[in-house]
This record gives sequence, C-alpha cells and structure tokens, in this order.
Amino acid sequence: MISRYFQHTLAVNLTFVGRGLHSGLPVRMTLQPAAPDNGIIFIRRDVPLFQSEIAARWYNVTDTRLSTTISNRFGAKVSTIEHLMAALYVCGIDNARIVLDGPEVPIMDGSAEPFVRMIQQAGTLQQNTERRAIVIRHQVQVEEHGKSASFLPAPVPRIDMTIDFDNAAIGHQELSVPLDRDLLAFDVSAARTFGFQEQIDTLRKLGLAKGGSLQNAVLIGDKGVINQEGLRFEDEFVRHKVLDAVGDLSLAGMIIIGRFMGMCSGHDLNNQVLRQLLAQEDAWFLTTLSGAEEYWAWTQGALQNRENRNDQAAI
Ligand SMILES: [Zn+2]
Repeated sequence: MISRYFQHTLAVNLTFVGRGLHSGLPVRMTLQPAAPDNGIIFIRRDVPLFQSEIAARWYNVTDTRLSTTISNRFGAKVSTIEHLMAALYVCGIDNARIVLDGPEVPIMDGSAEPFVRMIQQAGTLQQNTERRAIVIRHQVQVEEHGKSASFLPAPVPRIDMTIDFDNAAIGHQELSVPLDRDLLAFDVSAARTFGFQEQIDTLRKLGLAKGGSLQNAVLIGDKGVINQEGLRFEDEFVRHKVLDAVGDLSLAGMIIIGRFMGMCSGHDLNNQVLRQLLAQEDAWFLTTLSGAEEYWAWTQGALQNRENRNDQAAI
C-alpha cells in the first residue's frame, strides 16, 4: 500500500531532451531511481567523475539571477533546476539521480508539466525509510526592497504568494495552495515562465535567455502578452511564481511543515529565507513526517484542553 509517510523514488529511468533556457545549449537528461536518504543529486556526465556530483540542497545554491543554479566545490554547476525540482516534489519523489550532459536543465515548454506528466505515467516506487520533516516553531523572515519571504508555524504545509508588477498585463495577483502532493490538483505545474520584451537585449548581453522563445516562455510587450496562444490561466504569472518557490524550497531536502509567505519573492529571497531558517536552530526541529503530524495533533490537543479548562474555570 502506498504510504505518504515513506520515501519514494522513480520506478524507471526517464529521459528528456531539450535546450537550456539561459545557455541555449542542447542537453540530454535522464532521471534515475536512487537509494533512500540520497535526496536529489545532479550528475554532470561531461565533467570528470570525481567532480560530477552536485546535491540539490540549499547550501549549494550559487546563483539566483532569473533561475536557481547549484554548484559543487569543484565549480561544476547545473542551472534552472527549479521547475524539475518542483515536479519531483509534487510527484512525491524524495530520491533521484539526475544525469545530464550539459550545464542546464532543459526548459521544455517553460513549465513543469512535461516532467510531471512523464513521472506520473512512469510511476513511483515506495522505499523502506520514513520521510523526514522540518517543523517550523517560530517565524523567520527576510526582507529586501519591499519584497519579503517568511516561514510561519502551521500544522499543514501551505504556500501563499503575492506578486505586484508595475505592468498592466500582470498587475497584482495572489494565490494560496497546499505545499504538498495536493498541490498537483491546483495546476501550478503547467504555468510557464515569463519575461519582458524590453529586457531581452540586456539579458542576452549577460549571457541569459539565449534559449528563450515563444515556445518556452510567456513574453510580455508594450501591448501585453505577445504569445499568440495567450495565457494558460488568467493568473499564470503568480502560479509560475508558486511553482518556482516550490522548486526552490524543495532544496531543504525534506518536507517543511509550516506556512511559506512570499511577497514578490523570487529565487534569491526563496533561498535566503531557507538559509536563514536552517541557520536559526531554535526556529525548527527535525523529525519524521509521521512525527510532525503527531506533534501538531498533540499541540492542538493541548491547546484545546487548556481552552476547555479555562471555560470550566469561567463557569
Ligand atoms: Zn520559473
């Protein structure tokens, strides 16, 4: 019987071929099963073996300009990992080896949907080790230029995202969704990445967005969305920001039992708040997923008992 309390890996190898959004380079990527407690590990097949492994963890994040890049101590890196990481997270994959022959995850259609669809079709395999969880005990927040990201204690993982763009095509959008497998039902995986036409020249000069096209991004110009097919959802932009945050927060390497609140939060703040949280050891504790649920059941029961006692005292 499938239990969400236990770790899962992929049932089979899955291969994706495409181009990197920023590098523009062709890449072949294979997702492979991995042993319990391995987490998600990227492996660059095009660098010497001893330099090739990069763990998908928050402390390996080295660049957050427009996408999330992880590196190891030998300088081997993989960028734009966030949509794939989000897909693995919502599909409940705890352990996998991601073998690729280039520096960037293929962008596919700009969303996580192609990854999610293939993983769901191929199926997952339950492993004999319990899932681990980080339980938030105290609020942790980072702020920068009017943007913020925070974690708050909550019995059920949730993500609240607000975006506010000074652009009529986007404007103000809000979304609140469960930050667990139930997120699949909310269709954030199909929301595509987006960019602004006026920024393209600057980005290309910086060596970014070289592989970007109307096939893998929503492009916004003076008169609104340029893509002929239009948007997939009215609020596709905030949905994509949620998707990015799910991928970035999955770099904790375990389920976070708490509420994430992002105010215009992007890759940089998502990583900063995770670093801040994990550095502040009194703000959380480590347990299993079943342990986290027991803790909250106990906490809520204790609160209920205290209220009952107060009620009786009032009578
Ligand atoms: Zn994205």
